[in-house]
Amino acid sequence: MSIANAERGVTIWLTGLSGAGKTTVADRLAPALRELGRKVEVLDGDVVRTNLSKGLGFSKEDRDTNIRRIGFVSNLLTRNGVAVIVAAISPYREIRDEVRETIGDFIEVHVHASLDELVRRDVKGLYEKAIRGEIANFTGVSDPYEAPHEPDVLLDTEQEAVEESVAKVLAKLDELGYVRVPAAA
Ligand code: ADP
Repeated sequence: MSIANAERGVTIWLTGLSGAGKTTVADRLAPALRELGRKVEVLDGDVVRTNLSKGLGFSKEDRDTNIRRIGFVSNLLTRNGVAVIVAAISPYREIRDEVRETIGDFIEVHVHASLDELVRRDVKGLYEKAIRGEIANFTGVSDPYEAPHEPDVLLDTEQEAVEESVAKVLAKLDELGYVRVPAAA
């Protein structure tokens, strides 16, 4: 007997360039899902790299290892009914697809803004350095980013307010039956 999606765990995988809005969306989405009765865990790339993936660098091999580790933990949590939000650049399509395949209950969210906008925001001051050639392997400047061909949700954070972006993810989860978002009064 299959379990209704409302009882199932799900991984919400936010992929996109540094500063695109992954952490911001994750931080807003998590309490919204808790309000809807979901158990939630957030795996943020920056945090993961200080513990689970401590010591890994930014070569393709290390990036793939990092994403596989995040995928492994996400899978365990998802199997146990948790809504897992992953916020990680995850630049390589093949590894994202591999993780999706393993987890099954998985929605891919492309968090997008143009490079011009990201340089304007320069949230962490990294783009300026990367453009000056001071950071090797900086995704989007000196390292590749393979955008999803068919993301389940595309967030254009250059045009949308954070609330709109979060609402789009919730609408997709609702459409797939993972949550029931009450209609706005
Ligand atoms: P990332 O986690 O992808 O590196 P951050 O979340 O740290 O990016 O930074 C994203 C920046 O973009 C924040 O300053 C945030 O306020 C801004 N922003 C503007 N619009 C949005 C949106 N719709 N969704 C998410 N962030 C947005």
